[in-house]
Amino acid sequence: MSYVDEVLERVIAKNPSEKEFHQAVKEVLESLRVVIEKNEDKYRKDALLERICEPERVISFRVPWVDDNGQVQVNRGFRVQFNSAIGPYKGGLRLHPSVNQGIIKFLGFEQVFKNSLTGLPIGGGKGGSDFDPKGKSDREVMAFCQSFMTELHKYIGADTDVPAGDIGVGAREIGYLYGQYKRLTGLYEGVLTGKGLTYGGSLARTEATGYGLIYMVVEMLKAEGKTLEGQTVVISGSGNVAIYATEKAQQYGAKVVALSDSNGYIYDKDGIDLALVKEIKEGRRGRIKEYIEKKPSAVYTEGKGIWTIPCDIALPCATQNELDLEDAKALKANGCFLVAEGANMPSTQAATDFYLENGMIFMPGKAANAGGVATSALEMSQNSQRLSWTFEEVDAKLHDIMANIFKKVSEAAKKYDMEGNYVAGANIAGFEKVVEAMTAQGIV
Ligand code: NDP
Repeated sequence: MSYVDEVLERVIAKNPSEKEFHQAVKEVLESLRVVIEKNEDKYRKDALLERICEPERVISFRVPWVDDNGQVQVNRGFRVQFNSAIGPYKGGLRLHPSVNQGIIKFLGFEQVFKNSLTGLPIGGGKGGSDFDPKGKSDREVMAFCQSFMTELHKYIGADTDVPAGDIGVGAREIGYLYGQYKRLTGLYEGVLTGKGLTYGGSLARTEATGYGLIYMVVEMLKAEGKTLEGQTVVISGSGNVAIYATEKAQQYGAKVVALSDSNGYIYDKDGIDLALVKEIKEGRRGRIKEYIEKKPSAVYTEGKGIWTIPCDIALPCATQNELDLEDAKALKANGCFLVAEGANMPSTQAATDFYLENGMIFMPGKAANAGGVATSALEMSQNSQRLSWTFEEVDAKLHDIMANIFKKVSEAAKKYDMEGNYVAGANIAGFEKVVEAMTAQGIV
């Protein structure tokens, strides 16, 4: 049996209930087959893949807090410190009821390669909790965040592990978490990114993942001799990534016609009114269906189905496995030629295979959404230097980083005769750097 198949079997047997983790490992190892086969004996002897697939540390803890009725609630917190070969662990915290160890491990695993691709000195980690911030008062969210950090602070630090936001964790949550970290440790340091501008945050961090995604799409189109101007775009989600992807796409002259949340989606054939979306989502934490109250010409549909809307470009920016094979077929049938992932692993494996087998241009999340973590690393640099760069400086660096990632990904694919296969390219380019660093550091 090949080394890849052996390791895949072992990962599944050792982590039987972690299906998203299996999916992420399978996707990466399958696309690395050509590279691994070339070095099979050495990698096997060094148990390289076993080490890459085993987190350095998994921390799981109780998070008790008191709700507004005086009732004690208990959630489960996680931090997975996956790989520190190229820098301190770095990766977001997710607050969503679906969170479990398998989901955090899949995200942490992906993060290792994504962070490597940015070219910046950051290792991979991820964390979160099954706490649902939706419908909670500010006081309840603060009580949860303080309790969560009371345990987490033992394991993180500016040079150890630097968490950030993800689903359910935005500026409000980062603020509460930072306040509690400082109170417990007495340290005013860059231990979290995504901080507010008055206490060490970086300009352009809020926009970075969405903007970076569009910079990547522009590079992908450029390679085909095309531009974004006049393209019709469908974006799922209406959170941080979706909003700023919409903003940048509109600046490039694209027409974004749809957005969604976990209840349903809006279709506005005239193009999304982003100011209205921001007012609903960022202003009052409302639902996307409220959009049609002010824009009756738009249509709201409850449930799934956003991928049946005709478009040129699809940008899934909500959550994992939100786009399956049927959705991929519907996109293709309606003329979509390019998919780039703002979310982490939003396409199922079958959907990804379909894009690649049917000539669609596809960029996986670990490359396409790396602008968020890259800008987080820029926030870390500013914190270390006690400096603040301007919006334009950070945005220009973000732009260069995304263009560079595109170059690395396409060159890595070419090097192994898989031109245009950006899934393989991203995995290979991310993997090679981590392997080199791990090998140099001995058996650790
Ligand atoms: P937000 O919490 O700001 O927004 C998430 C959006 O996705 C919301 O519109 C939410 O709808 C929707 N959503 C969440 N879960 C589901 C679900 N199960 N089904 C359908 N819709 C869902 O998160 P972000 O925008 O920060 O993150 C979105 C994705 O991007 C995630 O995969 C995240 O890991 C990834 N990402 C984020 C980065 C960042 O910098 N923020 C960096 C790199 C990747 P609702 O409000 O109804 O829950």
